[in-house]
Amino acid sequence: MSHDLIIFDCDGVLVDSEVIAVEIDRRILAEFGWHLSIDEIVDRFLGGTEEAFVAQLGAHLGRPLPPDWDAPYVAWYREAFEAELQPVLGIESVLSGIDAPFCVASNGSHAKIRHSLGLTGLLEHFPDEHIFSAQDVAHGKPAPDLFRHAARSLGAAPEDCVVIEDSRSGVRAARAAGMRVLGYAGGLTPAAWLADEGATVFTDMTEVPALLA
Ligand SMILES: [Mg+2]
Repeated sequence: MSHDLIIFDCDGVLVDSEVIAVEIDRRILAEFGWHLSIDEIVDRFLGGTEEAFVAQLGAHLGRPLPPDWDAPYVAWYREAFEAELQPVLGIESVLSGIDAPFCVASNGSHAKIRHSLGLTGLLEHFPDEHIFSAQDVAHGKPAPDLFRHAARSLGAAPEDCVVIEDSRSGVRAARAAGMRVLGYAGGLTPAAWLADEGATVFTDMTEVPALLA
């Protein structure tokens, strides 16, 4: 099977950010009196947009959050990422060995994607025109817009793309875009969740070259 474009999710696929982020999410929600377990946070929020997080927190509180609600917390994420963020185990070899065009498509902002890839030494693999953010489209994942936008921008038909994702939201988006999906279950998301959404599941990045071949 040959592919015209390989589309990587960022958080949990390129950078090992989810384990850091869900702990910060847990602490922030607790500040608002909403005490969720890590599993519950993975279920509700992993791979979702920041807007979806804010909407669910507002619904839980029964009031909308003010625009600057996160001002005290932005530094929590930044400081934790700068201290702890690592590439996902084995991803550097995958990126160095791929002989097809590839890009990143993330629900995070352009600034966040570049910051995370820069911290982990992966940014050199992604020229500007190969970085796609939910900021570029009307609806982030689980809508198909972002993956379609990335494929269209780089001249690939959806059926010739493969997406590598670690969240249900992301797998759903890729399937809705008409793309093949490899679901990475080496992180926080249970393999069955990814399989149920239609992904071919794997747990170790060393499997990727064979899955793409
Ligand atoms: Mg992800």
